Amino acid sequence: TREACQPLPVLGRDVRVPLVTGGEVTYAALDYAASAPALQRVWDDVAGYAPYYGSVHRGAGYLSQLSTDLFEQSRRTVAEFLGCRPDDQVVFTRSTTDSLNLLAAVVPVTTQVFVFVTEHHASLLPWRGHDVTYLAAPGSPGEAVATLERALAARDPHGDALVCVTGASNVTGELWPVRQLAAAAHAHGARIVLDAAQLAPHHPVDITALDVDYVAFSGHKLYAPFGSGVLAGRPDWLSAAEPYLAGGGASRTVARRADGGIDVEWHTDAARHEAGSPNVIGAYAIASACRALTEAGFDALVAREQQLVDRVLTGLAAVEGVTVLSLFGPGSARVGVISFVVEGWNSSHLAAALSAEYGIGVRDGLFCAHPLVRTLLGGAPDEPAECGAPDTVPGERPLNAVRVSFGAGTPDEHVERFLGAVA
Ligand code: PMP
Repeated sequence: TREACQPLPVLGRDVRVPLVTGGEVTYAALDYAASAPALQRVWDDVAGYAPYYGSVHRGAGYLSQLSTDLFEQSRRTVAEFLGCRPDDQVVFTRSTTDSLNLLAAVVPVTTQVFVFVTEHHASLLPWRGHDVTYLAAPGSPGEAVATLERALAARDPHGDALVCVTGASNVTGELWPVRQLAAAAHAHGARIVLDAAQLAPHHPVDITALDVDYVAFSGHKLYAPFGSGVLAGRPDWLSAAEPYLAGGGASRTVARRADGGIDVEWHTDAARHEAGSPNVIGAYAIASACRALTEAGFDALVAREQQLVDRVLTGLAAVEGVTVLSLFGPGSARVGVISFVVEGWNSSHLAAALSAEYGIGVRDGLFCAHPLVRTLLGGAPDEPAECGAPDTVPGERPLNAVRVSFGAGTPDEHVERFLGAVA
């Protein structure tokens, strides 16, 4: 009996866009999974801080001290938001993609990596320099755990191993059994990183309760589109590896050697991987979003979003020829990310029509998860396909899909307009 909250105020609610049919309409942003609008609260916090901006960790002046304090405070806010363990590091990055590439750069070279072929490319591709096992698409959460367990049981138990898994799919919105996957990983001596790009904006992510070793997410999907992301987790690999970027800020001391070379002593905390002047506004914005979502209460946000999920699924089911994509089958738990195809329609044309005729912003294509989308559309994961797929005719298998996604700022009217337009 959780009570749903009202939509949270976000930027862009009053933006008017022209329609090809004449006139104009307020824009309906239904592409939160690509990038969510900024929370009004985040915008206000950023605007409030901007006049006091100064260099971080590099200035003696008052505003530099203030900015440095706010930057480090933002790190602590994120750590609290993620339920970090006391010694976890929180590294500010550019995005989830950057965070996972950073992790791939610091894992010991001999690490065996296990990743489902259904992952977003940001989770699928960074490990390619390692010994990677690509796990087959599971048909249910239970099958995902069993598949991982089988693969881990067959691994060389002496070396390091890392499992990379998504918390919520950016294609189907379906929730993955993170806690069980983490338990399986740890039972076999492997670590696990959670790609929380789509989970963190919709659900509380508690690194300790989920018992995952690392979490990665992006500010721009968490209502803080100012160019920062986060990698949080165990400090040992992070503080032992070569810095992700070499430069000022990452180095504690640099000295010329007698033989003409250079000796560097690197920081061992998060600064080791944050060389260069950090994006303090991006970090501050993420911390502001963490506070805003926590204060609104995830229970109420989840309850509200589930009402919209149910409404969209029911509404789409009532339209003839619509198929909603699902890996785990009907009734599976999902966040506000739903992909579908309409028989006889090219998904790109449908998405273009939703924009041009109704002022609705959705996404079409293969959503940077090509093997997953091909599997969901009834093809083989290795079948060639392109984002701008050609027209299909009734009875033919579609080559791409439309994705509608929403969240804390979405009013009912956007969902109703979308369902009316599809119908
Ligand atoms: N993982 C998932 C599940 C995603 O949905 C995305 C973004 N679509 C990413 C990773 C990559 O995020 P970013 O583009 O912010 O690096």
